[in-house]
Amino acid sequence: MHAAALEALSIAGEWRYEPLDVATAEFEGRVRDLPAEGFVGVNVTIPHKIAALAVADEASREAAAIGAANTLSFAGGRIRADNTDAEGLIASLPTAPRDMRALVLGAGGAGRACVWALSEAGAEVSIWNRTAARATRLASAFGATAAAADQGQPLGGDWQLIVNATSVGLPAPGSPAPGLKALPIDADAIHAGQIVVDLVYVPGGTELGRAAQARGATVIDGLEVLVRQGAASFRIWTGLEPPIEVMRRAAAQTGDSLEPT
Ligand code: NAP
Repeated sequence: MHAAALEALSIAGEWRYEPLDVATAEFEGRVRDLPAEGFVGVNVTIPHKIAALAVADEASREAAAIGAANTLSFAGGRIRADNTDAEGLIASLPTAPRDMRALVLGAGGAGRACVWALSEAGAEVSIWNRTAARATRLASAFGATAAAADQGQPLGGDWQLIVNATSVGLPAPGSPAPGLKALPIDADAIHAGQIVVDLVYVPGGTELGRAAQARGATVIDGLEVLVRQGAASFRIWTGLEPPIEVMRRAAAQTGDSLEPT
């Protein structure tokens, strides 16, 4: 999607976006070498997001609060850390989440960014996590509420926004993807007027996404959130307005060619 955006803005001759595979032990040294190699910045993904914040000389408010960075930029001999996962979620929503009752499922890295972003945007956030203690810790860090469900039972409550930030739905090599049953959600209770975001992307939709779609909810898939965080990173590095539709089309083409394993 970045290559397509550079092409669309006619700057593909000067700019290039390329994958870099970096071992954990080499992360800091490799990042420090990049500016001399001509890199303006990098996106950083699992497992380097916490190390990316640590290597930076300065951090945005988002990155500092979330405790992780997915975007680094290099200028004047300094490294700056940003976290565009939070902005990506908010930008993908059809309306601002101010005063919405929001449920975030998952208290891992993505859950943390979602809870911070939604709380910051004025939503009333509840967090559920399979390991309840992580939800409690995250809730107290960001002034949200931890939601507990009895084993196998759905959570009570009518949410205007539900965000799946667990890896449930993601195909796992060698075993079937854990499905909706792993989440405390009663699919039959999902209704029109609700917004359901699933950060997990699989071609054809996740079980949660399909169930929400069938019941008339507004569904945002993980590809849209990915495009929006990518667009925010693009803006940081180039200072240019990213061509969202071009990026969305390019990401969808690549995403649809992914085969569940
Ligand atoms: P992570 O830090 O490893 O967290 C994984 C989360 O999933 C934890 O909350 C974990 O709960 C939960 N989980 C895993 N297996 C589960 C199961 N069988 N039942 C219930 N909960 C389960 O990963 P992450 O970085 O937060 O990423 C989470 C998902 O979001 C991934 O699928 C990732 O691909 C996706 N993501 C998408 C975007 C996007 O732009 N679309 C961005 C970031 C992440 P425990 O704490 O109990 O282990």
